[in-house]
Amino acid sequence: MKLFKEILKEIKKYDNIIIARHIGADPDALGSQFALKELIQYNFKGKTVHAVGSIASRFRFMGDLEKIEEISTENSLLIVLDTPDKKRIEEIGDLSNYESVIKIDHHPFVEKYGNIEYIEESSSTSQIIFKFALENKLKLTTKIAENIYIGIVGDTDRFLHDYTTNETMRLVSKLLDMTNIDFTKLYEPLYSRPISEVKFEGYIYQNLVLTDNKVAYIKLKEEDIKRFEVDSAAAGNMINDLKFVEEILVWAFFSEDIKNKIIKANIRSRGPVINEIAAKYGGGGHIYASGARLKTWEEVENLLNDLDKEAEKYINK
Ligand code: AMP
Repeated sequence: MKLFKEILKEIKKYDNIIIARHIGADPDALGSQFALKELIQYNFKGKTVHAVGSIASRFRFMGDLEKIEEISTENSLLIVLDTPDKKRIEEIGDLSNYESVIKIDHHPFVEKYGNIEYIEESSSTSQIIFKFALENKLKLTTKIAENIYIGIVGDTDRFLHDYTTNETMRLVSKLLDMTNIDFTKLYEPLYSRPISEVKFEGYIYQNLVLTDNKVAYIKLKEEDIKRFEVDSAAAGNMINDLKFVEEILVWAFFSEDIKNKIIKANIRSRGPVINEIAAKYGGGGHIYASGARLKTWEEVENLLNDLDKEAEKYINK
């Protein structure tokens, strides 16, 4: 593929490479970031490659990140993964600080910010990174393969989502054959959680509100989150678990985070398109998996009304 060759040429040109991705990093953002960093280091000796941003403690087993303030951005190449728009990139400062910017992403297009952009709506950015490695005949280590696998498994929610394709399965099978990683051992660090989160999940299920148009939601005030001794991102990690509930078509969790003055919305759907609604409130994402950072509970109400109308339209279609 022409673009993969072009990206490789750009990587070869620079000795100082910085790899970033979206805020609120999930296993795919991190898996692709760590995998690409190590791919470059392992295949092109002598380059300095930095993976930047912050990481939740539960994902530290995947790798280590650096702070952009501690890194020189002079004569550097910035590669941004898994992020369709500038405002969602974590920790890179001004884009004009970098000589060259590459975007590699699997979200629907939002805006152009790189001089080279590879966008493919595949299952995950990690899947694209593996394809990039294969096409350019790059060598893999066990750790690279593990991070790619975790990224694909994370974003497809164990191959459940619609954007899991034959190609995803073929590539995963190839990845396992090539590297022989012990993939089942990765599930423990990836999915282990404290019992406080299980109890919190019970609370969410007990208190879900369901509308006539099959929209389920819960508003989680900071005091609820604190009471269960979980962090503000905990609900977001559970959102996919409601995918196959017969009475639910669209569902959303709203988690208040007073310190950051936001109410984080995690939204999912089994039919109605939701990313355009999320975008109306400054968020975005995939057609059936979106998110937003809202400012007020009034905005939450408005967003919920829009989701409900969309669900009603979908039901009566
Ligand atoms: P989440 O609910 O955080 O797992 O996010 C689901 C999808 O929506 C992911 O593809 C995210 O990249 C996207 N997303 C989440 N939050 C936002 C946001 N504030 N703005 C734009 N896209 C978002």
